[in-house]
Amino acid sequence: MNKPEFDITYSQLPAQLYAHTKPDPAPNAAYVWLNNSWAQSIGLDQAWLSSDDALGMFSGTEDVEGYAPLAMAYSGHQFGHFSAQLGDGRALLIGEIVGSDATRYDLHLKGSGSTVYSRRGDGKSTLRAALKEALFSEYMAAIGISATRTLAVFETGEMVMREEAHKGAVLLRAAKSLIRVGTFEFANIMKGEDIVKKLADFLIVREYTDIDIEANDRHQQLFTQIVTRQAELIAKWMSQGFIHGVMNSDNMALSGETIDFGPCAFMERFKPNQVFSSIDKNGRYAWNRQAEMAMWNLSKLAQSLLDLFDENQETAIQIAEEELNKFFPQFMTHFNQLIMHKLGLSIEGAQAEDMMNQTFAMLSAAKPDYTLFFRYLGDVLMGEDESLLVALCADEQPLQSWLSVWRGHIENEAITTTEIAQNMQQINPIYVPRFQLIERALEQAGNGELTAFNHLLKALQNPYIEAGEFADYLFIAADGDADEQTFCET
Ligand code: AMP
Ligand code: MG
Repeated sequence: MNKPEFDITYSQLPAQLYAHTKPDPAPNAAYVWLNNSWAQSIGLDQAWLSSDDALGMFSGTEDVEGYAPLAMAYSGHQFGHFSAQLGDGRALLIGEIVGSDATRYDLHLKGSGSTVYSRRGDGKSTLRAALKEALFSEYMAAIGISATRTLAVFETGEMVMREEAHKGAVLLRAAKSLIRVGTFEFANIMKGEDIVKKLADFLIVREYTDIDIEANDRHQQLFTQIVTRQAELIAKWMSQGFIHGVMNSDNMALSGETIDFGPCAFMERFKPNQVFSSIDKNGRYAWNRQAEMAMWNLSKLAQSLLDLFDENQETAIQIAEEELNKFFPQFMTHFNQLIMHKLGLSIEGAQAEDMMNQTFAMLSAAKPDYTLFFRYLGDVLMGEDESLLVALCADEQPLQSWLSVWRGHIENEAITTTEIAQNMQQINPIYVPRFQLIERALEQAGNGELTAFNHLLKALQNPYIEAGEFADYLFIAADGDADEQTFCET
């Protein structure tokens, strides 16, 4: 059995940035789910991961020499308001491992008990929330969106009070880095020790390895690359209908990974201002505001980095503005391209822009199921009847006129319609974590029954391949349903 090295290079940073804390001992820890296939793919020994030794470390019942978990400190703008002292209030960085893919991963527990950053929280997590994160993070991986991975979920044997009592659990997740916009906001209000610079250099060495650590303009380069990764990430989210739900600056990881799957959801019927989170009363983090909000967070990051851009404040601000101004054009380029690919089109420039406008106008009016719309469009090219598409829409008329424009473009493509359709099936998933499916899986899991969870997980891990066993995952939400649905697992 191979126990991985549990190094924590983060603890070489100034001590204000973290607090060593051990996980709360769980009275009766037991694995509910282990991500054996991903563990294997990064060379993590499954025998060790599933052993009592490992579970004992994660659940705080076994104290191993040299094991020094820590809670990371951060600040954050939450729904626009600054909180200076946030931090891992129920999470711990337990170690960094280097996978066989040569990537260094932060291993992070979530729900492992209170820390100095818990404020009034209990430091715990529900089994529902942990399993929801497992489902979503596996799906993100399957559809090629950068996100933290879930390695394991274990029950603690305790009950956790939310509106009612729930089974408690801890999630073990792996991230390329959990440094957030909020980590820099925190470093920026700490005095002395060049703390922002040390953190920025740490991030370069860890995650942005093509930047020369000796270069004078390395922090500007770092910011440029962070902006690029976020532009790509948000374009991918939106192209697949993902709504993060709590894009506070403490929930934006600078690795470009999606983190914290609390009230997140995939849009069902198309509604551009869709919000899922019950706590987002003003629609700040609606589907169609996510690029603007990412930019808002990036501007907070830029403020924290200003002193590193240039000694002269005005020059520094100018640099920050120039870099920030690159966000929207990059986002739009990616987003347009992704949507054109989803439509099976290779058009570019003004033609693509025009098609984008027509497509989103049609989607807003026809209100089809967003995921199935693109999927069935490919099926129609394969010879399926258009009634497939009609059945997805609340209003058929806008669809019909759009279809003739789309067919016109398809005819101009250089490859055959069969080839186009095949390409479309490879990028347009048929399965998506639908509200009702998740609800059913989590409800049953809360009662100790994991069949629905495992079945749904199987579909979400292979979302491009249609299979008879998942036929009942293909229903369409009634028009208006989404407005009543709220999703806030914690
Ligand atoms: P979130 O928006 O869920 O990522 O959390 C925002 C902040 O609240 C972070 O600092 C979390 O660590 C903290 N937090 C959330 N839930 C709890 C909890 N149950 N106990 C302690 N801290 C929490
Ligand atoms: Mg968070």
